[in-house]
Amino acid sequence: MSLQTKLEVVCLELLKKTSTDLPPDVEQALEKAEKGERDPVARANLRAILENLRVARERGVPLCQDTGLPLFYFWMDPSLPLDPFEAARKAVKKATREGFLRPNTVHPLSRKNEGNNLGKEMPRVKVFRRRGEEVEVTVLLKGAGSENCSKLIMLAPEKGVEGIKELVVKAVAEAGGKPCPPIILGVGIGGNAELSMELANLSLLRPLPERHREPSLRRLEEELEKRINRLGLGPMGLGGKTTCLGVKVEYAHTHTASLPVSLSFLCWAARRASASLEVGG
Ligand code: SF4
Repeated sequence: MSLQTKLEVVCLELLKKTSTDLPPDVEQALEKAEKGERDPVARANLRAILENLRVARERGVPLCQDTGLPLFYFWMDPSLPLDPFEAARKAVKKATREGFLRPNTVHPLSRKNEGNNLGKEMPRVKVFRRRGEEVEVTVLLKGAGSENCSKLIMLAPEKGVEGIKELVVKAVAEAGGKPCPPIILGVGIGGNAELSMELANLSLLRPLPERHREPSLRRLEEELEKRINRLGLGPMGLGGKTTCLGVKVEYAHTHTASLPVSLSFLCWAARRASASLEVGG
């Protein structure tokens, strides 16, 4: 099997896994939330989510009817004889044909659907440089319910950290049950408009228990998480203390006159998975 074909296989397996299973950290957080809820409706919702997960995993069927849009992240040496874009495209086409992905991708104006989840700039692929013979791939599936709650706010810099906290909590409150809570929220701060959204998405790749390495950002994640859970939206927005399973923050330096803040929502079906390919192996 050629190296390129091996990469396509890795991408396809990741799509199958993300479509039908949740990462262990998300499952554990849902189990912990279920045990901690006193509200009977919240508890019942979390039980239904966990039962849904068990059945999907056992039968190898998608966790949710909306299998989202796939995002691929590659960390690899650009000198390797590999085309990650082509590997992702082929894998997406095959996963759609095999029923692991619903054909969600349409032209934005005509709404024409080619039925294979391919199209201009689709699937979304980001490639990051790194040295060595190991290629790391991560796939994230983002459903429309949560993606439609995304936000980019060019905050006035004088609003500062308190302004960021206020806008984040307000945005989650306004989203209500739309992103299918409990959510995981990615917050991208700084950079330019484009980078802040990329940072918000990248922060979602960090496993739930992993806090930001910098103490001030770690404290911000913890405070946002507490304030969001105090909103009382609960699972599916029907009340309870588990509105979010985690908040992840990432930042970049920015223009002195700017303070972009981006929010990227993941629903309870927080589908991500990673794998690596040893080029020499
Ligand atoms: S937001 Fe998530 S759980 Fe809700 S319908 Fe979309 S993919 Fe499914």
